[in-house]
This record gives sequence, structure tokens and C-alpha cells, in this order.
Amino acid sequence: MPVLHNRISNEELKARMLAETEPRTTVSFYQYFAIDDPKAFRDNLYIQFDKLKVFGRVYVAKEGINAQISVPQNNFAAFKDVLFASHPALDQVRLNIALEDDGKSFWVLRLKVRERIVADGIDDDSFNLANVGEYLPADRVNQMIDDPDTLFVDMRNHYEYEVGHFENAIEVPSDTFREQLPMAVEMLQDSKDKNIVMYCTGGIRCEKASAYMRHNGFENVYHVEGGIIEYARKAKEQGLPLKFVGKNFVFDERMGERITDDVIAHCHQCGIPCDTHTNCKNEGCHLLFIQCPSCTAKFEGCCSEICREELERPREEQRERRAKRGSGIKIFNKAKGLLCTTMHLPAQEKAGSAK
Ligand SMILES: [Zn+2]
Ligand SMILES: [Zn+2]
Repeated sequence: MPVLHNRISNEELKARMLAETEPRTTVSFYQYFAIDDPKAFRDNLYIQFDKLKVFGRVYVAKEGINAQISVPQNNFAAFKDVLFASHPALDQVRLNIALEDDGKSFWVLRLKVRERIVADGIDDDSFNLANVGEYLPADRVNQMIDDPDTLFVDMRNHYEYEVGHFENAIEVPSDTFREQLPMAVEMLQDSKDKNIVMYCTGGIRCEKASAYMRHNGFENVYHVEGGIIEYARKAKEQGLPLKFVGKNFVFDERMGERITDDVIAHCHQCGIPCDTHTNCKNEGCHLLFIQCPSCTAKFEGCCSEICREELERPREEQRERRAKRGSGIKIFNKAKGLLCTTMHLPAQEKAGSAK
């Protein structure tokens, strides 16, 4: 019986990856399809990927697969063969290749069996994930966005919507996808005669959301093919006008990919136009929030005067205080009124939010 997980320390693995000379390609993909035996599927894939020195995070569930990985460039063709042959539903699956990535984001292969690839909280046996809405390619997105009988619905989190979204898109104001699903149904209850277009970053959430809307009696449901990432790529490639304004938030060092030059958010401390996310430099806080360069200087990268003072304490003392307190809320949320010791919030922008 081969060992189907790694047994080497994290530090050692990272050092090995950094010592590699062969360039890697970072790629992500997902597919919803029924997997009867996720454990067997997972083990088989692990053996194949491990041989090809694939690193990264892969989730397998009865509902499908979701992966963010890096592949040595010399093995990329072999990787595609293995993946496409692993199941008919994965043949020619769309691979999103990260262009600006150096391929050093992962140093170990973690392949896990999970209950779901996207936690949805749906507890209804009659829900059919295969009954998805119609895919919208970039050109059709642009056609529909100006149609008064069409509503665009953003299925991401508030901090993502805040820095960039489709023109006039509706925000579903919740911090979790599982809460957003019933909320979207509720919010759109009187719009069943409209076309509903769902979207998210890479398509994985809105695909499930579109099936959920159909499950709840909405008939004209669409979702943006491949999410914002694919839309932006195709629109640029085809020379279409960009209907997504601002930044597409992504969790890497860049904290977002600029799609248009519009800056639609504001500094959470002084209120000037700004859409640069950062994490509070106080490790005991680490709040994700938007901070302009002058506030970065003034607060030394912290979210508040309190955190800035904390940062001045000796490191050891900071650590002890953190241990006592535990970690707090990690994401700025206007509704919760964080940063109130220092900030003057601009009038809340309501453009595009639901009535
Ligand atoms: Zn500021
Ligand atoms: Zn802070």
C-alpha cells in the first residue's frame, strides 16, 4: 500500500520547492459532477498528481472537485492528460492559468475529501445541482447588462463587491455564501419575471447559486461563465467594453487585479477614494481593510490608534496579550462599525444595492 500523503515537515518541503529550478505554472479549476466514491477518486488522483510533482490544494466531494495547484512546466502536458482522463466530466475542463504568478505559492500536495467543494448549507435532498442556469460568455454579459429586465447579482463577499463589481449589480449583504443563498431568494422574490444573472470570482459559487435559484422557482437564471476572471480575460481578448468596474479582489499579495481604472471604494480611515486592501500590521488584529497611503503612514499600517500602540509594545508582550485574547473579527464590515475610533466614513454608497 503506497503512502498517499506526505510525511515530510513543512519547512523542509518549502525549502525543497524554493530550491527547484524548473518553473511552475499555477492553475485552478473546478467541476461539479457526481463522484460516487470520493475517497477512491481522491486516492487515485493523489498517486497520479504526486508522480507529476503537482503541489497545491485540491478538494474532492460527492458534488465534484475544486483545485488550486502548481505544475512543473515540463509536466504540464502530462498533467492535462491525467486530469482529462480521470473522469469523463473532467475531459477538457476549463483550466484557469494564473498569468502573474511565480508558481511558488504551494510546496506540498494536499488532496482532501470534503462534504462539499463549496459549503452551501443546503439541506434539501430534492436540490439538483445539475439544474444550473445558462452560461453567459462575455459578449452576452455585455448585451444583457443594459437590459432593464435583467438583474445582475453578486455572489461574493462585501469586501470583494466594495472594490469592484458589474455595473449596477446587486449586492447580497452577508459574510457567508450559505447565508447568501436564502437571502438572494428572499431579495429577488418580486423579480421572478426578470432575467437573473449570478456571478462570482471564478464561477464556482454562482454556478451553484444559479441552480439554487432555479430550485426556488426562478426560471430565467444565468451565470457568468468562468466568473469575473474569465469575463475580463475574454472581454479584453475580444476588444469588448468592460462592464465590470474597479478591481477583482483575489487572495494573493496583490489583493486584487485591476479591471478598469475606476476606484469605487474609499479609505476606511479617512474616506478618500482608495481601493487598496491591506491587513492590519498588528498581528493580534490582522483586520482586512482598505487604507490609503497617507493613513498607512499615519497609522503605521494599523487599522486604529489602539493597534498602532499595541505594535509599539515589545514583541514578547504583544504575543502574551494575543494569547490571552484570542483572535477577533478578521474582515472590516461597515455594518459592524469597526475602525470607529479613528475614521470618518463617507456617506454609504448605495449605488446598485437592492431596494
Ligand atoms: Zn486614508
Ligand atoms: Zn488592527
